[in-house]
Amino acid sequence: MTLGEFENKFNTEEACRDYLFSLRWPKGFICPKCSNTKAWAVRTVLLECSKCHYQTSVIAGTIFQDTRKPLTMWFRAIWWVTSQKNGSSALGLQRILGLKSYETAWTWLHKLRTAMVSPGRNKLSGYVEVDETYLVSGDNKKQGRGAEEKSLIVVAVEIKDRIMGRIRLKRITDASSDSLHGFAVESIERDSTLHTDGWRGYSGLDSLGYIHKITKVKDKKASDLLPHVHIVVSLLKRWILGTHQGSVSKKHIDYYLDEFTFRFNRRTSSYRGKLFYRLLENAVLIGPNTYKNFVNRRSII
Ligand SMILES: [Zn+2]
Repeated sequence: MTLGEFENKFNTEEACRDYLFSLRWPKGFICPKCSNTKAWAVRTVLLECSKCHYQTSVIAGTIFQDTRKPLTMWFRAIWWVTSQKNGSSALGLQRILGLKSYETAWTWLHKLRTAMVSPGRNKLSGYVEVDETYLVSGDNKKQGRGAEEKSLIVVAVEIKDRIMGRIRLKRITDASSDSLHGFAVESIERDSTLHTDGWRGYSGLDSLGYIHKITKVKDKKASDLLPHVHIVVSLLKRWILGTHQGSVSKKHIDYYLDEFTFRFNRRTSSYRGKLFYRLLENAVLIGPNTYKNFVNRRSII
């Protein structure tokens, strides 16, 4: 899909609504309250169940819920974010959409990031390199000392025939075995081979059902030890410095890790339109969120 095709296809509210309808109810309307399959339209955007009279809409319960902006603008935002190889900063999105408020652009990007994690996605499997690293970022609003924040993140990279497959990234509070084992269990299938360094936080992985391959740092240079993790980490750092000018506060780093993972895992996708459709598919499955929720998110030290 080219930009021209995109603009032709989603140029009206009706076209966008119809598309979201087909994603939410691929087999036709189902009332969320009583499962009845008939509804009539009320004031264009509402759907009223013919049986229990419950009113809903295609955007209720999705990331678009309560938006005061047209869906065509949302679709343009998703197109922009997915068609750019490295994504977009909030400032970039604000300019492209002509939004008055930076806050709105920032919130939209965060909402879209929540839709970048597919519900029920498969865990990594096979041969997986795992390592932790510090990520330095900052909040541009803060000045001077204390503006820089360090986040500890753990990185897992699947390797198939010496080629990198999918990745998982997670911010962790410490490099204890609780944190690292927890990450392994939620991100990687049992019976996989986990290749790590000799850090004691990794010991005991075999008792969780993994084949644990350990290479001690003294045997090799640190970057040669787990070379694929090293590549992913340098790409991640470059992306945060480039697309986001390093302005990613620790409090929100998880959202950026989700976006990076989404992009990285689809980097070989020959057709960029796929990312657009995948994001829309997730957007109707992921619940709503607000600026307030994002900002009041508790920071984990
Ligand atoms: Zn009903």
